Amino acid sequence: MDVVMEYLDTYVFDSVYDKAAQLTATAPLPRDSLVRQSLSLFVFIYAYIVAFYFGTAGLSYRFIYDKKQEQHPKFLPRQRLLEMACASKALPVITVLTIPWILGELHGYSLVYKEWDKYGYAYLGISAALFILFTDFCIYWVHRLEHHPRVYARCHKLHHKWIVCTPFASHAFHPVDGYLQSLPYHLAVFIFPMHEYVYLALFAFVNVWSVMIHDGEYVASNPVVNGAAHHTVHHLYFNYNYGQFTTLFDRIFNSYRKPTQEIYDRSRRNSKTVQALQARHIDTALPTLENSKKQQ
Ligand SMILES: [Zn+2]
Ligand SMILES: [Zn+2]
Repeated sequence: MDVVMEYLDTYVFDSVYDKAAQLTATAPLPRDSLVRQSLSLFVFIYAYIVAFYFGTAGLSYRFIYDKKQEQHPKFLPRQRLLEMACASKALPVITVLTIPWILGELHGYSLVYKEWDKYGYAYLGISAALFILFTDFCIYWVHRLEHHPRVYARCHKLHHKWIVCTPFASHAFHPVDGYLQSLPYHLAVFIFPMHEYVYLALFAFVNVWSVMIHDGEYVASNPVVNGAAHHTVHHLYFNYNYGQFTTLFDRIFNSYRKPTQEIYDRSRRNSKTVQALQARHIDTALPTLENSKKQQ
């Protein structure tokens, strides 16, 4: 992240803080000031995450999302706007909670490194695979625990308001839920080394992936990859497929549910009979799942 901050300080923030100092007749905040770094990080992370969310989800909605899904009986009136409003409320809080992690990284407490060959070139690929596996494992358990009756209503239920998602559901959750599910991405570089550019690229990837698993479009029916089909099963049938990137931990810890063929097949997926069956299942299963566990 320091490479990004270096550019931003040089081309944006130095002049902004100089102007602010002139206006307030004080000395400009130095680059290593914690107050300045926190303010700059808030502006940068918030702008990045908002642009990324609306940009990626917007493109996915425009070019990939099957809008016939909006005819599903469980699709809420004005749902896309509700998803955007929910995400817009969550993102500033998540940004604030994220700042200490990035400050820790900027101040050299993480294992992010700069030299491409520090651990050998093969390690660049190994660390990327390790990042996916480590975060997938942690998110699996964070997500599964969020479905625990004591936690669910307070933290995760908001994200399950979207039974049939649009790509804008990707970041539409309670801020604490969003933060908890993002924690493994920050924690990873305090546990094993990662090259700064590999880390930045993976950070962009995880945001795109989060949109992709909510766009309902199933490019492949690969049984190992936790794609849109698997996450659709999670939103429709609730206590299955908690994973983010792979189905590995759902298979190991017995929460895997194979998507049915109609989830992959556009014409069958949009059939009124199939959608009515799904709606009936949700009407009977969801109150049982929620009320019996006193989640309301
Ligand atoms: Zn869930
Ligand atoms: Zn989801």
